[in-house]
Amino acid sequence: WAKGAGGARWELFDVDRNRQELARYALTAAIPAALERGEFYLDYQPLTALCDGTVIGAEALVRWRHPELGELRPDRFIGLAEETGLIVPLGGWVLADAAREAGGWPPGGRARAPFVSVNLAVRQVHAPGLVRQVRDLLERTGLPPERLQLEITESAMMSTTGEPVHALRTLAEAGVRIAIDDFGTGYSNLAYLRDLPVTELKIAGNFVAGLRGCPTDPASRTDERILASLVSLAHALDLTVTAEGVETAAQAERLRAIGCDAAQGWHFGRPGPAGQLLDRLCHERTATPTVSTAPH
Ligand code: C2E
Ligand code: MG
Ligand code: MG
Ligand code: MG
Repeated sequence: WAKGAGGARWELFDVDRNRQELARYALTAAIPAALERGEFYLDYQPLTALCDGTVIGAEALVRWRHPELGELRPDRFIGLAEETGLIVPLGGWVLADAAREAGGWPPGGRARAPFVSVNLAVRQVHAPGLVRQVRDLLERTGLPPERLQLEITESAMMSTTGEPVHALRTLAEAGVRIAIDDFGTGYSNLAYLRDLPVTELKIAGNFVAGLRGCPTDPASRTDERILASLVSLAHALDLTVTAEGVETAAQAERLRAIGCDAAQGWHFGRPGPAGQLLDRLCHERTATPTVSTAPH
């Protein structure tokens, strides 16, 4: 009985795996048509200054409104798109749509309107024409280069040598910001920090998750020390630091005490439609004394 059931389970498992593979292929094949039909859209998650909680930027996060499968998160299709190279047209659409949207953002609680931060896959960095595409879209949308940030993961940075580095340097020289995404989860070879025109480190959420603001908990203390050293490393290199995955007020407070510049996470705002970010910016604009028209 038991043995038979075990065998049946194996069979089921294989059928399941086959079905998953087929579904993966079908999903990949559907990307170009989905792009044409406008099934992709962007959510924006605020990036806030830790000193006063105002919005300094927003990360564009792609979603797929699939006609049969519903709303798909990027982890369902970005990997596939990267493997097949379809990330190049998809990522191109993301860049263009994010720049168009950000061109209309007001300053919020700060002197300058927030920048938009766009994830760039390694295939996009290697694709010819990245510099030209970015230049064209900045020109077309009127978005100043300082209001565009490109996020590249640490592991992607490790595999970029030669021509791609040149592309990133050209963009950095034009004023575009370059951030290292998920910092601390890749290799510990930091040579790319010397060789590439990086302006910001985004520290991966798993370090922040261990921050419980509890000085007697040794694990929390270790995470806090790692975070503090990453922050001083970044500052020694004239880079700004954003902590990802900040979910609680206690974490935000510890990060502020450590000297971290900015934060992203549910505590400061979940990813949401562009209109939600716009509302928040307008609210900040009227609520912040520095931009108030009242006599002083
Ligand atoms: P990422 O670039 O590290 O983006 C941050 C992810 O963390 C987002 O997941 C966001 O929703 C999530 N997050 C934000 N705050 C919190 C928090 O407080 N707690 C927790 N647990 N999670 C939080 P999302 O939207 O599912 O995106 C996943 C990944 O997909 C992104 O990670 C990024 O690597 C990739 N991705 C998204 N959009 C694009 C894109 O347009 N192009 C490329 N190449 N990759 C993209
Ligand atoms: Mg990112
Ligand atoms: Mg990240
Ligand atoms: Mg990630």
